[in-house]
Amino acid sequence: MTSLTFSYDRRPPKFQTVAADQWTNWHWQHQHRLRDADDFDGVLHLTADERAAFDEVDGSFRVAVTPHYAALMDRQSPACPIRRQALPHKDELATYPFELEDPLAEESHMPVPGLTHRYPDRALLYVSHHCPVYCRHCTRKRKVSDPTSAASRAQLEQALDHIRKTPAIRDVILSGGDPLTLSDDRLDEILTALRRIDHVEVIRLGTRNPVTLPQRITPELAAVLQAHAPIYVHTHFNHPAELGADAAEALGLLLHAGCVLGNQMVLLRGVNDDPETVMTLNRALLRHGCRPYYVLQCDMAQGITHFRTPLRRGLEIMDHLRGRIGGMGVPHFVVDLPGGGGKVELTPDYLVDGSPASSTEPFQTLRFRNFQGDLFDFVDVDLDR
Ligand code: SF4
Repeated sequence: MTSLTFSYDRRPPKFQTVAADQWTNWHWQHQHRLRDADDFDGVLHLTADERAAFDEVDGSFRVAVTPHYAALMDRQSPACPIRRQALPHKDELATYPFELEDPLAEESHMPVPGLTHRYPDRALLYVSHHCPVYCRHCTRKRKVSDPTSAASRAQLEQALDHIRKTPAIRDVILSGGDPLTLSDDRLDEILTALRRIDHVEVIRLGTRNPVTLPQRITPELAAVLQAHAPIYVHTHFNHPAELGADAAEALGLLLHAGCVLGNQMVLLRGVNDDPETVMTLNRALLRHGCRPYYVLQCDMAQGITHFRTPLRRGLEIMDHLRGRIGGMGVPHFVVDLPGGGGKVELTPDYLVDGSPASSTEPFQTLRFRNFQGDLFDFVDVDLDR
């Protein structure tokens, strides 16, 4: 097994005197987040463009980077995939006519503030507007990091009340921001309230903390999650460099707490838009008990178009994965349709001749290609014809 490095061992010169017990304390990490260009002195060699971007995008979307996440960055290269995800870039200010403020129409499907209820059986509950690191590709830039968007206690109670009164909701996803920005006690309260609702069968929690602040996954937090097991935890690893020893330990704690782990990777230009990177990430995730669940096409949100890849790139990646890694390592490649249309899955076309839909015969030979391009005939049988 590849040996992984702890971020403490990679800490930049600025943090050389920090003790290990400070570094591994998530409160310390939160309090020492890097927020402006000067904060990165002694951390990275910012290029002139990178430095200027802090001023250029000021006010449009906050910057915050945990020392842990900064330690994963390449200190010299602006092309570093970790830098690209966390440092502002002037391309965020470019506008395109097709961009949408709320690409998934989450706000227009809110029966009460802070709860998106779009599909009959599922509801998205926003419990925090904070994140340890503000990802430059965030699809919820419109409200994440904005203090005025924070869910108050009264608002949350109203959302829980809606869930209580709506028996069709079987599946609740805690989201934000990042729910793990809340204290253990507050999370426990919310999970307890949800577990008391008989018709809520599935509780999910979407978090990027295992990536950007793995120190947050403490034994105490694990105990809270274990008390409400099983919690389906959706992580958000986008690149293999994000899965170091700290993240591996965090995933281990979650697994031992009875969480079911799945990763939602966003396909990002210049970060992970090549097949080998995704395969390396997926192998690492499986090794640590986290199943690659989705590869998400980047949404049509404002200020993130520079991260978008053509759909064919996603299909090429899926084609590469199939046959080279076991099926558990092949996620669903999905496009979340704008306006609340929901997710649709795209798969490479393996059927090269014939159509099961058009056959009127009981036996029909279809021709497929495999991941290597070799051709194979398969006889489709429909004895009811
Ligand atoms: S952790 Fe999630 S919600 Fe927070 S900034 Fe990143 S993508 Fe957005």
